[in-house]
Amino acid sequence: METANEAANQGANVSIVEKIPKVVFVLGGPGSGKGTQCSNIAKLFGYTHLCVGDLLRAESESDSKNGKMIKNAMNEGKIVPSQVTIKLLQQAMRKIGKDKFVIDGFPRSDENRAAFENVTGIEPAFVLYFDCPVEQMEQRLLSRNQGREDDKIETIKKRFKIFLECSLPVISYYEEKGKLRKIDAARSIDQVFESVKTIFKVED
Ligand code: ADP
Repeated sequence: METANEAANQGANVSIVEKIPKVVFVLGGPGSGKGTQCSNIAKLFGYTHLCVGDLLRAESESDSKNGKMIKNAMNEGKIVPSQVTIKLLQQAMRKIGKDKFVIDGFPRSDENRAAFENVTGIEPAFVLYFDCPVEQMEQRLLSRNQGREDDKIETIKKRFKIFLECSLPVISYYEEKGKLRKIDAARSIDQVFESVKTIFKVED
């Protein structure tokens, strides 16, 4: 028979075990519409939108020891080291404490992906990929006009190069695992969202 102590210990164990949240990664080149569609997904399907670029920008504005390094990396269009990004994501997920997240703009490299899975033990339920021609993404970023330092043409070009070199392998990885849901993002915001809705209605 179970002793009172054993029962209490089991109770304690249950309370310290974190519930693993459901995660959907949203990938696509810069300007493919990830942020725009993620806020729609959050509104309609009750997910919490985590934009990794926004988390990094906030951290780079803080006095943290990584602030300057993050700013330099982003202005160069480079990928911030995995341990920094993953820590920010984990902190945000714990603080928000919700059970469904759409994560926008991560993982940006296969190393990012493997590190996230190792550290958090979380695999995405599925992965959305917004497929869009480079010329169209460039046009959108140049007119985004949010005063972002990384929306200058020189940085945009570097971001595209890194996307093709580092992020496309992540997309292939999830395609091979049968987790990729590819969407033609070269259409209007509403048309793209219709495709997004169809996927979430099936998967959610
Ligand atoms: P990302 O998060 O992938 O970098 P955003 O969602 O910020 O992209 O979109 C970049 C810019 O393009 C924004 O100004 C946004 O309003 C615009 N945009 C997004 N999706 C579309 C679309 N389907 N058609 C035209 N413009 C779009």
